[in-house]
Order: sequence, then C-alpha cells, then structure tokens
Amino acid sequence: MSPASTAARAGTGYVPPLADMRFVLENVVDLAGLAALPGYEHADPDTVFGVLEESGRLFAQEFAPLNRVGDTQHSRRHDDGSVTMPEGFTRAYRHYVDGGWAGVPFPPDYGGGGFPWLVAVAMQEMLTAANMAFSLCPFLTQGAIDMLLRYGTETQREMFLPRMVTGEWTGTMNLTESNAGSDVGALTTKAVPAEDGTWRLTGQKIFISYGEHDLADNIVHLVLARVPGAPPGSKGISCFIVPKFLVADDGSLGERNRVSCVSIEKKMGINASPTCVLAYDDAVGYLIGEPNQGMRYMFTMMNNARLSVGLEGLALGERSYQQAVAHARERHQGRAPGAPAGESSPIIDHPDVRRMLLTMRAQIEALRCIAYLNAECLDLARLHPDPDVRTWRQELADLLTPITKAWGTDLGVELTSLALQVHGGMGYIEETGVAQHYRDARIAPIYEGTNGIQAMDLVGRKLPMRAGGVMTDFLDGIAATADELVASNGDLPAIGKHLAEAQATLRQTSDWLLANGRLDPDNALAGATPYLRMCGIVTGGWLLARSAQAAARELDAGRGDADFLRQKLVTARFYAEQLLPQAAGLAPAVTAGPADLTEAVF
Ligand SMILES: Cc1cc2nc3c(=O)[nH]c(=O)nc-3n(C[C@H](O)[C@H](O)[C@H](O)COP(=O)(O)OP(=O)(O)OC[C@H]3O[C@@H](n4cnc5c(N)ncnc54)[C@H](O)[C@@H]3O)c2cc1C
Repeated sequence: MSPASTAARAGTGYVPPLADMRFVLENVVDLAGLAALPGYEHADPDTVFGVLEESGRLFAQEFAPLNRVGDTQHSRRHDDGSVTMPEGFTRAYRHYVDGGWAGVPFPPDYGGGGFPWLVAVAMQEMLTAANMAFSLCPFLTQGAIDMLLRYGTETQREMFLPRMVTGEWTGTMNLTESNAGSDVGALTTKAVPAEDGTWRLTGQKIFISYGEHDLADNIVHLVLARVPGAPPGSKGISCFIVPKFLVADDGSLGERNRVSCVSIEKKMGINASPTCVLAYDDAVGYLIGEPNQGMRYMFTMMNNARLSVGLEGLALGERSYQQAVAHARERHQGRAPGAPAGESSPIIDHPDVRRMLLTMRAQIEALRCIAYLNAECLDLARLHPDPDVRTWRQELADLLTPITKAWGTDLGVELTSLALQVHGGMGYIEETGVAQHYRDARIAPIYEGTNGIQAMDLVGRKLPMRAGGVMTDFLDGIAATADELVASNGDLPAIGKHLAEAQATLRQTSDWLLANGRLDPDNALAGATPYLRMCGIVTGGWLLARSAQAAARELDAGRGDADFLRQKLVTARFYAEQLLPQAAGLAPAVTAGPADLTEAVF
C-alpha cells in the first residue's frame, strides 16, 4: 500500500502530492524561468522543491491531524470576549512561525523569504489540504500584508509589517456588515478624524475570520469604513488599520484598542476558524492611502486573495481524493467484471468507482495547473523586465482569477461530494472524516465574492478587456496547442481534436456574449455562470493537454518516472474525451439570454 493510502486510511492523513506539484511547476509553468528573473535568483528549482518538501512535511505531520480536532472542538468564545483555539493549534502555529513559513513570499526587508508568489501558492495548497480552517489565518494575514506593502505609509509598514511577515501578529479583512455582503458599498461603519491625525472607528462587522483568537500577540484588522462627507456606495469607502493592541513607537504593545469580539458563529464547516462579529466602539485607526479609495485598493489585491480561495477547492479535492482511493482499495463489495467467482472485489475494481476516482484526479490536476498558472502570471506581471510580457501576464491573471476562484471552489464541493460517494454510507458518517471535507469546502463558493459575483466579473469586466482581445489571444494560444497535438502522434491527436472543438465553442460563446452583452447587459449576466464553468472546463483541458505533451516528450526521451508519465497521458485523454465535451453542453445556457429568467414567477 502506498504511503498516501496508508495515511489517508488513518482518516487524519494527507500526503503532499509533491510529484504532481513538481510536474506542473516544471512543465505547465516555468519555475526555472521565474527563478532567472532579477530578484528571484535564490528561488532556483532545487531550493523551491526543498522548501515545498520541508513545509509539506510540517503541514502533513502537525496540521493534518489537527483538522479533525478543530472540527469537533471548534474555536470557543469566552464571556470576556477572548477566543480560544482548539487543542494543539497554538503549538502548531508557533512551529509555523518559528520555521519561518509565514514570510516565504514577502520582501526580505521585512524579514520575508522573497520567494515568488507561485511558491507561496504551492505551499498554501498543502497547508489548506492539511487543515483548511487553520490555513485561513495565514491566508488573511497575507492579504493584510499585501495591502500594507502596496498602500501603507513607510511608518505604517515599519510599525506592522516586520511582525506580520514573521507571523507573530496576524491580520484580518473587515468588509462585511449585516446589510453589506456582496454589496460592500452599502457598509455604514464610520471613521472620524481625531486631533492627533489618527481616526476613530465605530460600527459592527460580521463574519470576520480570525477576528479574535489566541494564536498571536496582536491582530491587525484592516477595516473598511466611511469618512464624513464620503460619497454614497463603493466610491465612498476608505480603508483603515485597526490593531487589537495599540503599538508604541518602539514597537512594544500598548493599551487594548476599542474593538471586541461580540460573538462567534456556529457554522457548517471550518469549525476551528473563529468567524467573529466585531464591534468597533471609537476604536483607534490609521488611514491607509487616500480617503474614499478603499475599494480601489481592495480590488488591486483581490487577485491574490481570490486565487487563494480557489486553491481551497483544489486542496480539499486532493485530500478527499487520497482518502477515497484508500477507501476504495480496502472496501470489498460485489464481484467486479472478470473477478473470480465467489470472491468479493475491492470497490476500486468496479468501473463506476474508477470513473469517480478518475474524474476527481483529472479535475484536481486541471485545477492545479490553472491555479499555478494564475500565480505565475501574478509574479511575471510584477517582475518581468519586458513591459509587454508584464502587460500580457497581468491581463491573463485578470482573466483567470474569477475562473480559478469560482470553478475551483465549485469543483471543491463536487470533488469532496464524489469522495463521499466513493465511501458509500460510511462517507455520510462523521467518523471517516470525509464528510468534514465536504462541509469545509462549502464555504469557498460563498466568500471572497460569491461565485455568482465572480461570473459577473468575468463577463462584465474581464471578457470585455481590450474589446475581447485578451480572450481572443488566450483562445489563440489554446488553438495553437490543439494544432500541435493534432499534428503529433500516440494519444495526442485525439486530445488535440477534442481541445480544438471545445476551444471553438468557447470562442463562439465569447463572441455571442460580447456582441449581445453590448446590446443588453442582461444577455451576458444571464449566461455568466455557465460561461464561467465553460471557461474553467476548457482552460483545464488546455493545460492537461499541455501536460500530456510534456509527458509524451519525457517518455520519448526516456526521462523521468515512466509510470507517472503514462498516467499523465491517461488522465489527459480521459479529461479530453469525457469531461471536455461538457463545454459544448453549456453553450445553450450561455446564449439563452434572460427571457426565461425574467418570465419566471417565484
Ligand atoms: C465562514 C465565513 C467567513 C467569512 N470571512 C469573512 C472575512 O474574513 N471578512 C469579511 O469581510 N467577510 C467574510 N465573510 C463574508 C462573506 O464574504 C460574505 O458572506 C459574502 O461576500 C456574501 O455576502 P452575503 O453573505 O451578504 O450574501 P448576499 O450578498 O446576500 O448574497 C446572497 C446571494 O445573492 C447573490 N447576489 C447578491 N448580489 C447579487 C448581484 N448584484 N447580482 C447577482 N447575484 C447577487 C449572491 O451571489 C448570493 O448567491 C465570511 C463569511 C463566512 C460565512
């Protein structure tokens, strides 16, 4: 039995899929090329693989077993407003901080490792798979660091970043209020200027992840609020730093700020993650950047945050897949075709169970390719010396981000559901642990902009970029891959043929949405969600086709692990033949227009 299945069988286990991660980093994205860029010289592939191996070991050994503990114990709020994390979490977090893992992608000036975002994303995949509820804490801190790096003043950066980068202090993002969810512009928290140049914030935020906890000495809340005279809606939102404890000039912690945790939510999943109602009562805050620019700032860092949430689907898909394979090998039921009479077969021998497992594997590998490509685009858009490359990679990141977020998280729910199905009745019983992955995965399509909002972003902002030119260039790249495959041999031409067809469907529907969306935005909005799914299916098919190309190349050259590479070809062929054609089935829904939706009476 493989180590993966042994660990997964234990119910608490997770084995970082390092071989596949490495394959994607070397063949689908260009880690070596990234490492050649000025500033990333130290991130050579060997060093990166060492980082991934070592961090993966910590996550698998220390955080994965705590996943179930967190699910059963939950984080707990006490009468004084403090919150205690489940047993073992503070110790594990200390090891995370002591190991220097929190600062991997951040500038060395603030104590970070200066690695590409791509590396952070690969690490994040493993941490999330090990313990999604925990992973939200570093993920939100990363978002807050990102905001301060881009828009904080020198003083603010000096005051907060060194300890946030190490993880000694954590960060939160405070957008949501009871009447301001998807419509962030409706928020009412107020900020008034104080005489000393700081601000005083009053209002209530809901659903704030890690708004209170005992993992770190301080919590740096980034809070959206309105200043006096702000224009209504999203144009009148400003962003503030509100630390739980005020910080003296010498960096020491001072008095407690007037922000408190009023309650924490009972939830369907991610039970270890404290989801807090936070009350701000004349709390001291520091304005980030200019007043009324808060939404603009948030938007520029959303690509990172949305990519991280998309990863949650991949991560939980992978973890539940490992568990499903282990279960399917052990559970015996019925007689599989060709099995000796009188003997029951492991369910992994039944074609329908194999279909579920291969569907999972193919979609997981496709998601990994998309997420890593998205991350590489963010790095290249920031650091590549050629401005044309920077522009194109930024455009591609903008296009891919809603797809990674929404398709990734929708699949997260579907993949964990499939893993549960493979377990049969035992999947529905909490004891096996697979139900937790399904419950945990369900939040990801909701937060960081619901998937409906992602689809609207895709058709309303991303598809119209350069009057459709970005999508056209993207599709031309897919068509070029399809042509190359059709002109090669072995499994590749069949994969190329399916890819060419799916690409043509996506091109037609993109053209339809652009043309008809101009006539009436409802035409585009009505088809946005099926269109986003189609984009995900086709992009996944494209990247698995490129994986197949690379695997065939390595096999021909006699390099690498032949069994692993052959399985890459099997997965890509299955995806191309059985999953990619689903894109065409979505075309009628994309191009239906709003008539049925408008006429329906509820
Ligand atoms: C566990 C958890 C953790 C969270 N963590 C944080 C956090 O750390 N910080 C934070 O600020 N927030 C956080 N949130 C809040 C989260 O981001 C919001 O729940 C989310 O943005 C959706 O807002 P809502 O719940 O008000 O739903 P609503 O906005 O009421 O949406 C309900 C439905 O209507 C749809 N809808 C809404 N508006 C439109 C529209 N214009 N067009 C089409 N469809 C629309 C949505 O897609 C959705 O399907 C968290 C929430 C949860 C549950």
